[in-house]
Amino acid sequence: MSQVVDLHLHTHFSDGTWLPEELVAQAARLRLTAIALTDHDTVEGCAPTAAACETARLEFVSGTELTAEQDGHEIHILGYLIETSHPILLAELAKFQHVRQERIREMVVRLNRLNVPLKVESVFALANCRSPGRPHVARALVEARLCGNLDEAFERFLKKHRPAWVPKFKMSAAEAIALIHRAGGVAVMAHPGLNRTDDVIPTMVEAGMDGIECFHTKHSTSMVEHYLELADRFHLLVTGGSDCHGLSKGTPLVGTVKVPYQHLERLKARAAERKKETIPNKGRL
Ligand SMILES: [Zn+2]
Ligand SMILES: [Zn+2]
Repeated sequence: MSQVVDLHLHTHFSDGTWLPEELVAQAARLRLTAIALTDHDTVEGCAPTAAACETARLEFVSGTELTAEQDGHEIHILGYLIETSHPILLAELAKFQHVRQERIREMVVRLNRLNVPLKVESVFALANCRSPGRPHVARALVEARLCGNLDEAFERFLKKHRPAWVPKFKMSAAEAIALIHRAGGVAVMAHPGLNRTDDVIPTMVEAGMDGIECFHTKHSTSMVEHYLELADRFHLLVTGGSDCHGLSKGTPLVGTVKVPYQHLERLKARAAERKKETIPNKGRL
């Protein structure tokens, strides 16, 4: 069987439900060759996932998924093979995490104003991570029996322009790409088919974007073909993954998007080139 990788995965260090060990156990059961962890605005889960991968003899790829904005569109940017202890990266991630926590507080204030008696402590306790998000508020609403299910929580309160929705601070796509590069990583636009934001791709290419996530759970076959074509046209690397969040959305998705190993190979080559470039005059007299 050919070697298959899944390069888009979340754990409970952001809005996934699994511990790193649970994720790795599933990946090993599916005989994946490599996995990348791409939790939102954090790299906290990378060390424990790497350790679990080592035990399971699975290749680990460090990563994160940053939220950015370009021409009014929310864009997710994956940073692969980043140095997870890079001080500038960690300082920036800490800022984003603080913004996320403040946003949760504001959402709960708005819910309380609507006579929905959710306690902010219950959201933070449930999230139990530094990078909480709307899915945690939704889960807390269901757990407190204030909503019947997650869909209802989003539809009634949390979706964009619903009464408890709070706008999110976002950096620009160029800033996100620069941050990933600074930490020695490779910057890839996540799931472009999700919000149909093709028009921002040329600007992001100009900002140094390295790749595009062509294979994704929510990409149809025609979308995959379309983005492979765009990748070719703009000379971009190709990546893909399931965007599995554990059991949060019912059936776990890990391994359902099968990405050939060769794409990871190219990703690694790009990261190695970048690391060489950041060491001035290396190999020169
Ligand atoms: Zn995303
Ligand atoms: Zn994701």
